[in-house]
Amino acid sequence: MPRMRMGCVETVAVVRWTPTEKVSTAFQLMTAVEKACTCWANETEDGRNTWEGTNEDFNIGDLSLENLSAGQLPGYLEREGIEGLEIKCFDATDTTAGWSYDLLMVDENKIDKNRELLPWPDPKELALKQEHQCYNNCPQCGAGDDDISWDILEADSSPSQKAFCNKCGCEFTEVYKYSHTEVDMVGEGPPQG
Ligand SMILES: [Zn+2]
Repeated sequence: MPRMRMGCVETVAVVRWTPTEKVSTAFQLMTAVEKACTCWANETEDGRNTWEGTNEDFNIGDLSLENLSAGQLPGYLEREGIEGLEIKCFDATDTTAGWSYDLLMVDENKIDKNRELLPWPDPKELALKQEHQCYNNCPQCGAGDDDISWDILEADSSPSQKAFCNKCGCEFTEVYKYSHTEVDMVGEGPPQG
Protein backbone atom coordinates (compact mmCIF):
# COMPACT_ATOMS: atom_id res chain seq x y z
CA MET A 1 0.00 0.00 0.00
CA PRO A 2 2.04 2.94 -1.18
CA ARG A 3 1.50 6.44 0.03
CA MET A 4 3.35 9.24 -1.74
CA ARG A 5 5.32 11.52 0.52
CA MET A 6 7.49 14.42 -0.71
CA GLY A 7 6.98 13.02 -4.19
CA CYS A 8 9.60 10.31 -3.91
CA VAL A 9 9.59 8.38 -0.62
CA GLU A 10 6.62 6.15 0.02
CA THR A 11 5.22 4.56 3.12
CA VAL A 12 4.32 0.97 2.49
CA ALA A 13 2.16 -1.19 4.67
CA VAL A 14 2.69 -4.91 4.27
CA VAL A 15 -0.32 -6.94 5.26
CA ARG A 16 0.05 -10.63 5.98
CA TRP A 17 -2.60 -13.12 6.99
CA THR A 18 -3.35 -16.82 6.92
CA PRO A 19 -5.73 -17.43 4.03
CA THR A 20 -8.86 -19.28 5.07
CA GLU A 21 -11.88 -20.52 3.17
CA LYS A 22 -13.77 -17.35 4.07
CA VAL A 23 -10.88 -14.96 3.47
CA SER A 24 -8.64 -16.22 0.69
CA THR A 25 -7.94 -13.16 -1.47
CA ALA A 26 -6.54 -9.70 -0.76
CA PHE A 27 -9.88 -8.19 -1.72
CA GLN A 28 -11.79 -10.43 0.67
CA LEU A 29 -9.28 -9.53 3.37
CA MET A 30 -9.81 -5.83 2.75
CA THR A 31 -13.57 -6.20 2.99
CA ALA A 32 -13.35 -8.38 6.09
CA VAL A 33 -10.89 -6.08 7.87
CA GLU A 34 -13.07 -3.08 7.10
CA LYS A 35 -16.13 -4.85 8.48
CA ALA A 36 -14.30 -6.00 11.62
CA CYS A 37 -12.89 -2.53 12.33
CA THR A 38 -16.24 -0.86 11.70
CA CYS A 39 -18.08 -3.19 14.10
CA TRP A 40 -15.29 -2.71 16.65
CA ALA A 41 -15.61 1.09 16.36
CA ASN A 42 -19.38 0.87 16.42
CA GLU A 43 -19.78 -1.48 19.35
CA THR A 44 -16.87 -1.10 21.75
CA GLU A 45 -15.53 1.72 23.86
CA ASP A 46 -11.98 0.82 22.86
CA GLY A 47 -12.81 0.88 19.17
CA ARG A 48 -14.87 4.02 19.40
CA ASN A 49 -12.16 5.93 21.28
CA THR A 50 -9.47 4.78 18.87
CA TRP A 51 -11.52 5.73 15.84
CA GLU A 52 -12.39 9.15 17.28
CA GLY A 53 -8.72 9.61 18.20
CA THR A 54 -7.86 9.43 14.50
CA ASN A 55 -10.34 12.22 13.70
CA GLU A 56 -12.62 9.48 12.42
CA ASP A 57 -10.06 8.57 9.76
CA PHE A 58 -8.87 5.18 10.95
CA ASN A 59 -6.63 3.84 8.19
CA ILE A 60 -4.28 0.91 7.69
CA GLY A 61 -1.42 2.86 9.30
CA ASP A 62 -3.55 3.29 12.43
CA LEU A 63 -4.55 -0.35 12.33
CA SER A 64 -0.87 -1.32 12.23
CA LEU A 65 -0.47 0.37 15.64
CA GLU A 66 -3.24 -1.67 17.23
CA ASN A 67 -2.63 -4.75 19.35
CA LEU A 68 -3.98 -7.59 17.23
CA SER A 69 -3.58 -10.26 19.90
CA ALA A 70 -5.27 -8.69 22.94
CA GLY A 71 -8.27 -6.54 23.71
CA GLN A 72 -11.49 -6.52 21.76
CA LEU A 73 -10.32 -6.06 18.18
CA PRO A 74 -8.99 -9.63 17.74
CA GLY A 75 -12.46 -11.05 18.44
CA TYR A 76 -13.93 -8.96 15.64
CA LEU A 77 -11.20 -10.01 13.22
CA GLU A 78 -11.78 -13.63 14.15
CA ARG A 79 -15.51 -13.24 13.60
CA GLU A 80 -14.83 -12.16 10.02
CA GLY A 81 -12.64 -15.21 9.45
CA ILE A 82 -9.36 -13.29 9.52
CA GLU A 83 -6.49 -15.34 10.85
CA GLY A 84 -2.88 -14.46 11.55
CA LEU A 85 -3.22 -10.80 10.56
CA GLU A 86 0.06 -8.87 10.63
CA ILE A 87 0.60 -5.34 9.42
CA LYS A 88 3.95 -3.63 9.09
CA CYS A 89 4.54 -0.12 7.83
CA PHE A 90 7.85 1.17 6.50
CA ASP A 91 9.28 3.56 3.96
CA ALA A 92 10.13 2.03 0.64
CA THR A 93 10.13 2.79 -3.02
CA ASP A 94 8.48 -0.47 -3.98
CA THR A 95 4.79 -0.35 -4.64
CA THR A 96 2.11 -2.96 -4.20
CA ALA A 97 -1.08 -2.91 -6.17
CA GLY A 98 -4.56 -2.98 -4.72
CA TRP A 99 -4.91 -1.46 -1.31
CA SER A 100 -4.20 2.20 -0.80
CA TYR A 101 -2.51 3.39 2.34
CA ASP A 102 -5.17 5.98 3.08
CA LEU A 103 -7.98 3.50 2.69
CA LEU A 104 -10.29 4.09 5.62
CA MET A 105 -10.77 0.99 7.73
CA VAL A 106 -13.86 2.30 9.50
CA ASP A 107 -16.94 3.22 7.51
CA GLU A 108 -18.35 6.24 9.31
CA ASN A 109 -21.77 5.76 7.71
CA LYS A 110 -22.15 2.58 9.71
CA ILE A 111 -21.28 4.11 13.06
CA ASP A 112 -24.23 4.72 15.33
CA LYS A 113 -22.92 7.19 17.88
CA ASN A 114 -25.96 6.74 20.08
CA ARG A 115 -25.68 3.00 20.46
CA GLU A 116 -24.86 1.50 23.82
CA LEU A 117 -21.34 0.10 23.82
CA LEU A 118 -20.75 -3.50 24.78
CA PRO A 119 -19.64 -4.36 28.31
CA TRP A 120 -16.04 -5.53 28.50
CA PRO A 121 -14.86 -8.08 29.36
CA ASP A 122 -17.81 -10.01 27.95
CA PRO A 123 -19.81 -11.28 30.97
CA LYS A 124 -20.62 -14.49 29.11
CA GLU A 125 -16.96 -15.30 28.57
CA LEU A 126 -16.16 -14.34 32.15
CA ALA A 127 -18.86 -16.70 33.40
CA LEU A 128 -17.22 -19.56 31.52
CA LYS A 129 -13.84 -18.88 33.13
CA GLN A 130 -15.08 -18.35 36.67
CA GLU A 131 -15.54 -20.85 39.46
CA HIS A 132 -18.97 -20.48 40.98
CA GLN A 133 -20.14 -21.24 44.53
CA CYS A 134 -23.76 -22.21 44.00
CA TYR A 135 -24.18 -25.78 45.19
CA ASN A 136 -27.38 -27.33 43.81
CA ASN A 137 -28.26 -24.11 41.98
CA CYS A 138 -27.81 -22.87 38.42
CA PRO A 139 -24.69 -20.64 38.21
CA GLN A 140 -26.36 -18.49 35.57
CA CYS A 141 -29.91 -17.85 36.78
CA GLY A 142 -29.87 -19.26 40.30
CA ALA A 143 -32.63 -21.79 39.58
CA GLY A 144 -32.96 -24.46 42.27
CA ASP A 145 -32.79 -28.23 42.19
CA ASP A 146 -36.33 -28.60 40.80
CA ASP A 147 -35.34 -26.85 37.57
CA ILE A 148 -32.10 -28.75 37.04
CA SER A 149 -31.60 -32.02 35.20
CA TRP A 150 -28.66 -33.92 36.64
CA ASP A 151 -26.47 -36.36 34.78
CA ILE A 152 -25.06 -39.36 36.64
CA LEU A 153 -22.40 -38.66 39.25
CA GLU A 154 -18.95 -39.41 37.89
CA ALA A 155 -16.95 -40.71 40.83
CA ASP A 156 -13.52 -41.28 39.35
CA SER A 157 -10.43 -39.24 40.30
CA SER A 158 -12.32 -35.95 40.57
CA PRO A 159 -16.00 -36.61 41.32
CA SER A 160 -18.28 -34.37 39.31
CA GLN A 161 -21.78 -34.18 37.98
CA LYS A 162 -22.92 -32.54 34.78
CA ALA A 163 -26.16 -30.61 34.82
CA PHE A 164 -28.55 -28.71 32.60
CA CYS A 165 -30.72 -25.84 33.76
CA ASN A 166 -34.23 -26.20 32.35
CA LYS A 167 -34.94 -22.58 33.14
CA CYS A 168 -32.14 -20.76 31.29
CA GLY A 169 -30.39 -23.47 29.28
CA CYS A 170 -27.07 -23.15 31.08
CA GLU A 171 -24.91 -26.29 31.09
CA PHE A 172 -22.61 -26.71 34.05
CA THR A 173 -20.67 -29.23 36.12
CA GLU A 174 -20.57 -29.48 39.89
CA VAL A 175 -17.16 -30.58 41.08
CA TYR A 176 -16.89 -32.28 44.46
CA LYS A 177 -13.97 -32.49 46.88
CA TYR A 178 -13.02 -34.76 49.74
CA SER A 179 -14.69 -33.56 52.92
CA HIS A 180 -13.68 -35.73 55.90
CA THR A 181 -13.55 -39.28 57.24
CA GLU A 182 -15.84 -40.83 59.85
CA VAL A 183 -15.14 -44.07 61.72
CA ASP A 184 -18.05 -46.48 61.43
CA MET A 185 -16.64 -49.23 63.66
CA VAL A 186 -13.55 -49.17 65.84
CA GLY A 187 -11.01 -51.87 64.86
CA GLU A 188 -9.33 -54.20 67.34
CA GLY A 189 -5.81 -53.15 66.42
CA PRO A 190 -2.95 -55.25 65.03
CA PRO A 191 -2.89 -58.91 66.18
CA GLN A 192 -0.78 -59.42 69.32
CA GLY A 193 2.38 -61.56 68.83
ZN1 LIG B 1 -30.35 -21.41 34.95
